[in-house]
Amino acid sequence: MYKITRYNGNFEYSHLLDLDYPSKCSNVHGHSGKFNITLYADKLDSNYMIFDFKILSEIVKEIEDKFDHSLIISKLFYEKYKFDDLIVNKSKLVVIDHNPTAEYLATLIADYIKLKLEEKKIVSITKLVVEFFETENNSASVMITL
Ligand SMILES: [Zn+2]
Repeated sequence: MYKITRYNGNFEYSHLLDLDYPSKCSNVHGHSGKFNITLYADKLDSNYMIFDFKILSEIVKEIEDKFDHSLIISKLFYEKYKFDDLIVNKSKLVVIDHNPTAEYLATLIADYIKLKLEEKKIVSITKLVVEFFETENNSASVMITL
């Protein structure tokens, strides 16, 4: 089995978590998020590679552009507190289906990569792993079998 890893995708973001227990994470706060993407394949393609690093970097850039300097909140929280009224200048708001935890952000990134691989008709990749670092010391990973 072969694997390649694209390190240090990154974006600055703020979020808050809508939790069912008291936590300082329920206050708006920011992170310098980083993520690594690892792709696995059983064999190399006709170019003797798993996937072109340049194309993978382009996908990483799209992910960074979507989230960088944004406020990420769950749809439920958005609907509960009518953020449109609160954010006067319509600063970059990204509303996602669930709490913006490190685990869920890793999942969203993995789902996006999977979609891009499908669009590009890449069938040789068998597994992808996204590790998302919310802080230097805390990360969450998701593994998807393709
Ligand atoms: Zn946080």
